[in-house]
Amino acid sequence: MKTNDIMARLRAKYPGENEYLQAVQEVLESVEEVYNQHPEFEKAKIVERMVEPDRIFTFRVTWVDDRGEVQTNTGYRVQFNSAIGPYKGGLRFHRAVTPSMLKFLGFEQTFKNALTTLPMGGAKGGSDFDPVGKSNDEIMRFCQAFMLELWQCIGPDQDIPAGDVGVGGREIGYLYGMYKKLAREYNTGVLTGKGSTWGGSILRPEATGFGALYFTQNLLHKAGKDIKGCRVAVSGFGNVAWGACIKATELGAKVVAISGPDGVCEIPDGITKEMIDYMLIMRASNRNRVEDMADKFPGACKFTAGKKAWSVKCDVALPCAFQNELSEDDAKELKANGCWCCCEVSNMGCQPGAIHYFQHNGVLFAPGKAVNAGGVATSGLEMTQNASHISWSGAEVDAKLHFIMDSIHEQCVKYGTQPDGSIDYVKGANIAGFMKVATAMLEQGTV
Ligand code: GLU
Repeated sequence: MKTNDIMARLRAKYPGENEYLQAVQEVLESVEEVYNQHPEFEKAKIVERMVEPDRIFTFRVTWVDDRGEVQTNTGYRVQFNSAIGPYKGGLRFHRAVTPSMLKFLGFEQTFKNALTTLPMGGAKGGSDFDPVGKSNDEIMRFCQAFMLELWQCIGPDQDIPAGDVGVGGREIGYLYGMYKKLAREYNTGVLTGKGSTWGGSILRPEATGFGALYFTQNLLHKAGKDIKGCRVAVSGFGNVAWGACIKATELGAKVVAISGPDGVCEIPDGITKEMIDYMLIMRASNRNRVEDMADKFPGACKFTAGKKAWSVKCDVALPCAFQNELSEDDAKELKANGCWCCCEVSNMGCQPGAIHYFQHNGVLFAPGKAVNAGGVATSGLEMTQNASHISWSGAEVDAKLHFIMDSIHEQCVKYGTQPDGSIDYVKGANIAGFMKVATAMLEQGTV
């Protein structure tokens, strides 16, 4: 296989699907050498099959807003790959959602889920519905209308959605309520991220952020360092950033920045428990403004409009918001300000130029599909609990999550160690995930 040839074909076939093309290119570049050592992959056209989603559902979602006006959005579910398990992946509600965005996310999810060691295929879904400024009732009505279509495509052994940007515990509750009414069955395992009293994993809300810090700690230990005492810059203030702030603080780091689409909040003395709790209120308000934090804690937080978290001096950068949120210029600014490690927590949070810059300028870097896999891994644990009608304690889930993150780190080291002894975590994660999915596809024949 030649990455350039495949990319040229995909660019011609899917012009303008930039996020999808970017995600595919990164994986193919990483695996090309290993792939070409396996003529059986080439013969079965594994790559050509793997870059195409199995199927995409597109549907109209019509709902009524608080003024009584009829609104129409588009809903999607991209079932990308089911080689190693049922389709699994989150739902994103964001005004910028397009098929390209969901294809990139579903593609990434396939490899990420393979890394978790659990049997889950890859999927993603969502809508161009914009939760910003919506009331709680509007969110509920939208979720119900969305599920009216989605429920036909999903099932506990078929496809299991969860949260992503714009979809958290509240939305999963509304989605599940409508699913249950339509299906007339209490299929708890059809969605993950549920409330802890009705089948949800006790640690699912924290899991992505906690897992990211367990991975980061492993990476730092491997490099002879520790997160303790580090200044950490976090982007975003949603669920993932929240979990990352809790665990980073618990491990003795100082979170000196969080950010939003409106700007950055600098917190020189480190984020406090009160501030971390307030992040949840900010998320539930649907205002999408980080300035609210500075308004609430005026002495301790300094808000600067239009700036990113990457403008704040730090040792470790944790992008926790959105794809392509960290550019090559941001990477240079981080490095100039003393940053020496970036663990990508958001999906494809760093632009290719930023990754290249980090890797060639002595900044430790690990990609989202390894770092953030603790979220979906804990979803997998939630599915296990649901299938066996049991409930684990928070401590049990945390121990399993920790073990999974250790194993993901080991896989990255196994496949990413370079002849000079350095570790290319991008290669490591991509090759480890790819080999597992490719082998399963091969064993299941030409389907
Ligand atoms: N949206 C999350 C991710 O990007 C979680 C998906 C899930 O729990 O299924 O991995």
